[in-house]
Amino acid sequence: NNEVVIDWNFDNSYEKLPSLFFSKVEPNEVESPSLVVLNEDLAEKLGLNANVLKSEEGIQILAGNALPNKGSGIAQAYAGHQFGNFTMLGDGRALMIGEQITPRGERFDLQLKGSGRTPYSRGGDGRAALGPMLREYIISEAMHGFGIPTTRSLAVVSTGEKIIRERVLPGAILTRVASSHLRFGTFEYVANWGDMEKLRALADYAMERHYPTLDRGDYLGFFRSVMKRHATLIAKWQLVGFIHGVMNTDNMTISGETIDYGPCAFMDTYNPDTVFSSIDAQGRYAYKNQPRIGGWNLARFAESLLPLFHKEQKQAVELAQEELYKFEELFKNQWLTGMRAKLGLFREEEADGALAEGLLNVMLQEKADFTNTFRGLTLGNLEETGLVGKPSFEEWDKLWQARLSRQGEGEQEVRELMRKNNPAIIPRNHRVETALEAAVEHGNYRVMENLVKVLRNPFAYSLEQGDYCVAPGVEALGYRTYCGT
Ligand code: AMP
Ligand code: MG
Ligand code: MG
Repeated sequence: NNEVVIDWNFDNSYEKLPSLFFSKVEPNEVESPSLVVLNEDLAEKLGLNANVLKSEEGIQILAGNALPNKGSGIAQAYAGHQFGNFTMLGDGRALMIGEQITPRGERFDLQLKGSGRTPYSRGGDGRAALGPMLREYIISEAMHGFGIPTTRSLAVVSTGEKIIRERVLPGAILTRVASSHLRFGTFEYVANWGDMEKLRALADYAMERHYPTLDRGDYLGFFRSVMKRHATLIAKWQLVGFIHGVMNTDNMTISGETIDYGPCAFMDTYNPDTVFSSIDAQGRYAYKNQPRIGGWNLARFAESLLPLFHKEQKQAVELAQEELYKFEELFKNQWLTGMRAKLGLFREEEADGALAEGLLNVMLQEKADFTNTFRGLTLGNLEETGLVGKPSFEEWDKLWQARLSRQGEGEQEVRELMRKNNPAIIPRNHRVETALEAAVEHGNYRVMENLVKVLRNPFAYSLEQGDYCVAPGVEALGYRTYCGT
C-alpha cells in the first residue's frame, strides 16, 4: 500500500551511535491486535494519516507485527538509580521503531511499550496490560493539556493475548512518542560500561538533538541546560499537584519531558507527604520530596559527565558542584513565578513566597482540595473548598486582597491570569479508575474518551467540565498505584 510508505517519514539517528547503546530486536508478533484508542491530534502533528493508522497495515505496525518503511526495531540500553540503588536496566518491554520527522521538521521517537521481550528483559515477560497503558494514555495527554513537557501517547492496541500478573489481564501495546528517550540513565550506563569516546559521542548526540544552540563541546552548558529544564519541569509538577511516583534516574529525560507514567497520580487533598505508589514505603518520592530528588538525580547525571567537564577529576567535581548549587534556587524561582500567577499576582514583592506558603499552610490545616482551592480563588467562589469562615483562611485572604489592591491591575486581568494558571480539572484518581474499569471490564471506551476530551482543555472553565471538577470523598484516602503491570 503506497499510502503507508508516503506517510511514514522515518530516520534512525540513534542507531548511528556505538552499538553499546542498543540491541537490535526482531518484532515479536502478537495474535490478534485491535486498535482501542488513537490520538488523532497527535497523528496529525506527526504527519501521520489517521485513516492509515486505523487500517489493517497501520494496526499491524502499532502492534509491532510489521515495521513501516525505514523502520527498525531496537531496544535502548541504559542504567539508573532505582530508589537510590545503581543498576543496569534497558528497554525490557519497549521497542523503538524509528524517529518520525514531522512536516515541521521536528524529530520524535516512536516506541512500542509492551511489545515483548528484549535482551534487557531480565525475568520480565516484556508485556504490558491494557489498564496501565490506557492510564498512561489518559495522564500523559492530561499533562500535555496542562502545557507540561511530556512524552505523549499515539495509540493503544490490545494484543488479544492474556498476560499473567496477580490476575490474568488483557495485553496491550502503547505507542509512546517522545522528543527522545535519552535519560540520565543512558549517561550513567556509558559512564560505567563505556569509555570516554562513547561518552562524548552520546553527549554530542544529545546536545545536537535537544540543545542545538550550545557550542559544540560545551558540556557544562549542556548540564546547566538540562538542569534548568528539570527545575522548570518539577516546578510545573508541584503547581498542579502531580506526583510522579518513580523518580528513578532512568525515568529522567535529557529533553526535560515527563516520562514513565507508572505509579503517578494527582493529589486531591493537599498534603505534602502524599505518596501513592504501593512500593514507595519510605515516601522517597512523596510530593514534598520531588524537588530535592530532582537535585539528587541531577547530581548522578553530573557524575556521569565529569570526564567531559575537566580532565582532572578534582576540577571536574568543583565545576559540577558550582552548577548543582544553583538547582535549588532555579527551582524556587520557577515555583514562585508559577505561584504568583496562580494567585493572580503581577510583578514581584518580597513577601510573595510567604504569601504562597501561607495559603498552603491553611490548606494543609483545613485538608483543602489542592485543585479546587485554586479554582475557587480563581472563580471568586470558595464554597466548595470549605475554607470560607475558617479564621486562618480569612486572615490569609486579607493579606492576599491587600497584595492584589497594591498592584493596581483590574479584576479582569487578575482573573484571566489565574484562569490560565489554575486548571479547573485534573485527572482525578476516582475518575481515571472509573474510565479504566469501563474500558477494561466492559469494553466501553466512551467514559475514557470523554475524560480525555475535557482534559485537553483544563483551563477552559467551561460548563462541559461539569462534575469532572468534583473532588472525591473520604474514599479517596489511601489510594494506591502500582508500577510495572
Ligand atoms: P520502570 O519502573 O517502568 O522504570 O521499569 C524499570 C525497568 O524494568 C525497565 O528496564 C523496564 O524496561 C523493565 N520492565 C518493566 N516491566 C517489564 C516487563 N513486564 N518485562 C520486562 N521488563 C520490564
Ligand atoms: Mg521506566
Ligand atoms: Mg514504568
